[in-house]
Amino acid sequence: MNPGARLVILGKQGAGKGTQAVRLSRHYVVPHVSTGDTFRAAVRSGSEFGKRAQKYLEAGELVPDEVVIGVVRERLTHDDTTHRGFVLDGFPRTVQQAEALMEIVVPQGLDVAIDLEIDTRVVLERLASRRVCSDCGANYSVSDNPPRVPGICDVCGGDVVQRDDDTEAAIRRRLELYDHETAPLVDWFDERGLLARMDGMGSPDQVTERLVTEIDRRKKFRPR
Ligand code: ADP
Ligand code: ZN
Repeated sequence: MNPGARLVILGKQGAGKGTQAVRLSRHYVVPHVSTGDTFRAAVRSGSEFGKRAQKYLEAGELVPDEVVIGVVRERLTHDDTTHRGFVLDGFPRTVQQAEALMEIVVPQGLDVAIDLEIDTRVVLERLASRRVCSDCGANYSVSDNPPRVPGICDVCGGDVVQRDDDTEAAIRRRLELYDHETAPLVDWFDERGLLARMDGMGSPDQVTERLVTEIDRRKKFRPR
């Protein structure tokens, strides 16, 4: 195994982005940087910052670019991420965020941006059964991947709940924003030779194996 990787995971809500991001971060021994988890944790903490983020999350709206970019810049300029790498999950979501990211990751750049592709019908089913640990953010699914003890996180023992923003209205809004703001990023990364379109169907293990094969192939051409 060859540790270290500099990855972006794109994909619609419910594509399995969060699940695969956690697995890839373990495989390559790099931090999983999830902007969604960061904002949810801030909301739970009740901080001033969290209070400002809350209204966007509940409505399924995007947090303003300057705010998100600031958070990511701060996180990606620590030693662990500059040396080993990162798995970015939920960022970038707009072209402005993508442009900022490419400046932040200079000089090493990215290995690859993975677009996890999935059928819209499957997405809605997955979102309806999606649950999350309210303490550590671990992802579960009541149909495919329930916690061993119902309602209790396998990792930390926290409460496993439905996300506040997994309401029908907020999901609809996030999918709409995905089409308008985030889908164009697929072409944006493709034009820069950084995109891998990957099939998100199948079991989590099958998808991880597929992704690792592609990432390793790309990494060979980007010695560090
Ligand atoms: P999902 O993949 O289900 O949309 P995330 O956990 O990635 O969920 O994000 C949850 C919420 O956090 C978003 O709806 C948005 O309000 C905020 N958020 C996360 N990442 C970003 C980002 N890159 N830009 C703007 N807002 C973001
Ligand atoms: Zn937990």
